[in-house]
Amino acid sequence: MAGKSARVIVNALLTVLKVERISQSFLRIYFSSDKHLTVNPLWICPHLKLLFADPTTGTITFPQLDENNKIVVNDKIRGLARSYSIRGYDEASNQIFIDFDIHPQGLASLWAQQAKVGDQVGLVGSVGKLEFSGQPLILIGDIAAVPSICYTLEHLPNNQQVYAFMEVNDRSDIMPLANNSNSQVNWFIRDKTKPNQLVDAVIAADLPPYEDLLFSGGMESSLAQQLRHAIKDKCPDINADAVQIISYWREGFAEGEFRRRD
Ligand SMILES: Cc1cc2nc3c(=O)[nH]c(=O)nc-3n(C[C@H](O)[C@H](O)[C@H](O)COP(=O)(O)OP(=O)(O)OC[C@H]3O[C@@H](n4cnc5c(N)ncnc54)[C@H](O)[C@@H]3O)c2cc1C
Repeated sequence: MAGKSARVIVNALLTVLKVERISQSFLRIYFSSDKHLTVNPLWICPHLKLLFADPTTGTITFPQLDENNKIVVNDKIRGLARSYSIRGYDEASNQIFIDFDIHPQGLASLWAQQAKVGDQVGLVGSVGKLEFSGQPLILIGDIAAVPSICYTLEHLPNNQQVYAFMEVNDRSDIMPLANNSNSQVNWFIRDKTKPNQLVDAVIAADLPPYEDLLFSGGMESSLAQQLRHAIKDKCPDINADAVQIISYWREGFAEGEFRRRD
């Protein structure tokens, strides 16, 4: 079973260096960081907690650590925090880039659409919930997880076998990836007439024996629920820890207003 990692709190300030529209759905934003980030090369789908400025005061207030080194987050800070994946990280220059899926509402999406060189956002810390362990990996996601899955596919250890299934909004959102004989990548374009295409493809795929597999992914909440049930139906004896499918977002709810696993 893949190991679990702790998150690393840095409370860093990120400064926008460049904004690029890379596809219909994605804005890629490059940042410098005023503090060194920890990104363990073994992390699967490493992600970050971004902290946006209070819209009334314009200030970014970082959470503090208590005497037991535990992070103290109040409701105000929670309402200004959003999860994003590392799409690229250069340790030497301490620069990162993040791909923001653009949707009509939302603190982060609106911030990204207006972002310009010199703007700042807080970074609470970096997190890697799972680590590569050689166990065959099935990565599944909708548009919000495309950045984390692409990053992971680009950083596979030698001999790590992976099957990826991604559903995007538009053909332009399909990201170019280098060929790797250890990975099989399947792209789908969202189609209202085929609402189950992602789940159906995962369930129909010719995968190694499921006792060995680790399923990991992120997507809209109802899709995540449907996928977890379908995996459980296909693999009734699978260990619960081997199915790490979480809600990256939920239709009609802001981050923090729903649970990652319902
Ligand atoms: C571990 C993790 C990593 C993630 N990595 C990324 C990433 O790299 N890139 C990325 O774009 N997202 C990523 N997400 C998803 C992102 O955190 C959510 O989409 C988040 O809700 C966006 O915040 P917001 O302020 O724009 O919208 P919120 O204020 O949270 O929500 C406002 C409204 O927008 C809707 N909404 C939120 N997200 C979407 C969406 N993707 N499509 C359509 N409508 C939406 C909500 O349903 C709500 O009605 C990640 C989530 C997790 C948990």
